[in-house]
Amino acid sequence: MNESQQDYDLLIIGGGINGAGIAADAAGRGLKVLLCEKSDLASGTSWASTKLIHGGLRYLENYEFRLVRKSLQEREILTAAAPHLIRPLAIQIPQLPHSRNAMLLRAGLFLYDNLARRKLYKSSSSIRFAPDNPLNPAIRHGFQYWDGAADDTRLVVVNALQAARHGASVMTRTECVNLEAGPDGWRATLQGKQRITVNSRAVVNAAGPWVNKILGRTSREQAVLPMRLVKGSHIVVPRLYEGEQAYLLQHVDGRVIFVIPYLNKFTLIGTTEEEFSGDLDQVKISTAEISYLIAMINLYFRKSVLHSEVVNSFAGVRPLIEEEGESATRVSRDYWLDLESMPQPLLTIYGGKLTTYRLLAEEAVDMLATIFPALRPAWTRQAKLPGGDFDIVENLFQEMVQRHAWLGAELIGRWLRSYGTLSYDILQSATSLAELGQHFGHNLYQQEVDYLCQQEWARVAEDILWRRSKLGYFFSAAETATLSRYLQQTQQSV
Ligand SMILES: Cc1cc2nc3c(=O)[nH]c(=O)nc-3n(C[C@H](O)[C@H](O)[C@H](O)COP(=O)(O)OP(=O)(O)OC[C@H]3O[C@@H](n4cnc5c(N)ncnc54)[C@H](O)[C@@H]3O)c2cc1C
Repeated sequence: MNESQQDYDLLIIGGGINGAGIAADAAGRGLKVLLCEKSDLASGTSWASTKLIHGGLRYLENYEFRLVRKSLQEREILTAAAPHLIRPLAIQIPQLPHSRNAMLLRAGLFLYDNLARRKLYKSSSSIRFAPDNPLNPAIRHGFQYWDGAADDTRLVVVNALQAARHGASVMTRTECVNLEAGPDGWRATLQGKQRITVNSRAVVNAAGPWVNKILGRTSREQAVLPMRLVKGSHIVVPRLYEGEQAYLLQHVDGRVIFVIPYLNKFTLIGTTEEEFSGDLDQVKISTAEISYLIAMINLYFRKSVLHSEVVNSFAGVRPLIEEEGESATRVSRDYWLDLESMPQPLLTIYGGKLTTYRLLAEEAVDMLATIFPALRPAWTRQAKLPGGDFDIVENLFQEMVQRHAWLGAELIGRWLRSYGTLSYDILQSATSLAELGQHFGHNLYQQEVDYLCQQEWARVAEDILWRRSKLGYFFSAAETATLSRYLQQTQQSV
C-alpha cells in the first residue's frame, strides 16, 4: 500500500454544493483546506435538483418566513455572483378549481415580493392566459412570479474552482474511509487511486444524505441527529411548448410540480416526494413517479405526454432533519449546523438547499473561528464566482461574436452559459475551429475537454457530458465511446 501523509487546517468531506461552498469560503479566509469527494463533484444530491435558486414560495404555507427571506436574499447575491449560471425565470401558476384560494395566493405572492430587497427579479402579477397558450383551455387565469433558473452542477464546480484559486486542494474520486481523533486534530484515511492519511485540525462533514454514515466512521460518542431521507425525481421530455416561461402546477394532494424549459429542446418536470430507505448510490425514479408527473402534465396541458416520450430522468435524496409527525412536504428545507469539539472539532451539516449554500458556508466557517482565531472575515457576499465577472451575458455574447465569429453563435452561447468569462481560458489563442483540436460531436472540441480535465477535475466522459456540461442529452453511444477512448489515452500519457 502506498501511504503518504499531509497536514491541513480543515478537511471537508463531500463535494456537493455545501462542501464546495464551505471549501471556497474557508480557503478565502486563509485556512489550508482539503476537499475530498468520493465520486465526482456534484454527483450526489446537488446534480438532481429542480435547478431553482428560489425563495421557496411553497414554504410560506408552512410559515417558514425566515427561510424564505434568507433564500430570497441569497437569490439576489448568487445571481449577481454567477450571472452566467443563474438567470431570472418567469413562473406561471395556472388556477384550476382544486387550486389554492386565489386571495391566499395573491397574499403569498405579495409577501414573496416584499420579504427581501429585490434588484434583479421583477414582481409578481395576476395573468389571463391568451387563447393560444399551451395550457388546457379550461384554464383562464392565474399568477406569474419570478425565481432563478440555475445550472446546479456548474455551480458546484465553480465553487470548487473558487476554493482552488484560494489554495485549497480538491481531490475527487477520493473517499474518506476512516476518521480517528488524535491529540491535535483528526487523522483521516482517504481512499483514491492510492490510500493516503491526512491530519486535519478540524473536519467538516458535508456528505449530504451520507452524513450519518460518516459519523458512524468516527470515534465519537454524541448521538447523530435523526434524518429523514426523501427521494425527489424529475423527468425530461421533448420541449412541450414555445416560450421561456415555466409553470408551477398544483396537485390535488397539495404538492407542487415545476415545468421548466430546459436546454432549448426539452422540458424538465419535477419533483416527486417519496420516503427513501434504499442504497444511496442507486437512487432511481420509479414507474409510479413517472406516471404521477405525466398525469399532472396531461391534466394541465393541451399536449399530452406518453411514458415512451420521456428522454431522461433523474432522482436525488433530500437529507432533511426529522420532524416527527410531519409529512415529507412539510418538513423544513432549512439547515442545521452541529459543531462538536470533543474528541476533536467536527462540524456536521444537516439539510439545506442549493439556494442557501453560500450563507450556510459563511455560517459554518464563522463557527470555526473559536478553533482558528486568525480566521479572516467573511468575504463571499460581494465576491464574483469564477466566470461570473461580468454584468450582462448578452454583452459578453456580442463581444465574443465580434471577436471570434468563427466559433459560431451556438458554441459561443453554450460556452458563455456554462463558463462565462472562463470561456477565454478554453479558447486561449485559437483562431479557427481546426485549432480547437479533435471534434467529438455537438461542438465539443478537444480544447474544451482538455480544459475540463486540467482545470475542473473531469476524469471520465460522464463528468464532462452530465456535470460540466449537459451534452449527454445529445451524445450518441458511439460519440461517448470516442470521448472515453480519448480520455483514457490522455490519462495514460500523464
Ligand atoms: C429532487 C430534489 C430537488 C431539489 N431542488 C432544489 C432546488 O430547485 N433548489 C434548491 O435550492 N435546492 C433544491 N434541492 C436541495 C439541494 O439539491 C440540496 O440541498 C443540496 O444539493 C445538498 O447538497 P449537499 O452538498 O449537502 O449534498 P450532496 O450534493 O449530496 O453532496 C454530498 C457529497 O458527499 C459525497 N460523499 C459521501 N460520502 C463521502 C465520503 N465518505 N467521502 C467523500 N465524499 C463523500 C457524495 O458523493 C456527495 O457528492 C433539491 C433536492 C432534491 C433531492
